[in-house]
Amino acid sequence: MIKKNLIQTYLDQQSKLFGKELFSHSSKQYDKNLILSNKTQDLSDEITEFYRSISLCKKCSLGHTRNKFVFGNGDPNADLMLIGEAPGEEEDLKGEPFVGRAGKLLNKILAAIDKNRSDGVFITNVLKCRPPNNRDPLLSEVDKCEPYLVKQIEIIKPKLIVALGKISGNTLLKTDNSLKEMRETIHDYSGTPLKVTYHPAALLRNPNLKKDAWHDFQWIRDFLKG
Ligand code: URA
Repeated sequence: MIKKNLIQTYLDQQSKLFGKELFSHSSKQYDKNLILSNKTQDLSDEITEFYRSISLCKKCSLGHTRNKFVFGNGDPNADLMLIGEAPGEEEDLKGEPFVGRAGKLLNKILAAIDKNRSDGVFITNVLKCRPPNNRDPLLSEVDKCEPYLVKQIEIIKPKLIVALGKISGNTLLKTDNSLKEMRETIHDYSGTPLKVTYHPAALLRNPNLKKDAWHDFQWIRDFLKG
């Protein structure tokens, strides 16, 4: 009887921490929102531990309004890390980054440079929780959330970071330069080269930008090969 109570208490705790999906340490079943590929087991363990340690974050008000914490997902051994600004409505519901129309376009762009989200690519956002009505991230939110991104970069050690869109670029580079200006240079973020390109949602709004975006992604492909 005592043993049964202990098991029940353990399961209740797990469910509070990780939701209804059983999170097993021994069988290494990872949260499906987190890792799609776990080719490198040690890295998977490290990033999963980190995910667990921050996934209940309530450091800012977005922690109280979100549905799901969107940590990011992909290959923990990625050489390319894509960073958007913040989860939108669909991402907030699913707990995964870039799952809406913009995400589908991003998948096509990645396929065009022989990449995919579960092999060589990790996708995340500057903010891990959705701002209400998709408003721009506040400085105070970025201050609290950005250390999580820095730690993700430290674990994954990508060869290249790509900031998707003006807000992501401005936030990471602490500048209010235009997208055009930011696209012209390769920057440095925490010791990793960073390129800024268009947000896929901008490409959906204005297909004329696709040519320049394609140019950027060809550069990205060549950089990663080099
Ligand atoms: N836009 C972003 O910047 N990030 C997402 O995850 C989805 C849309």
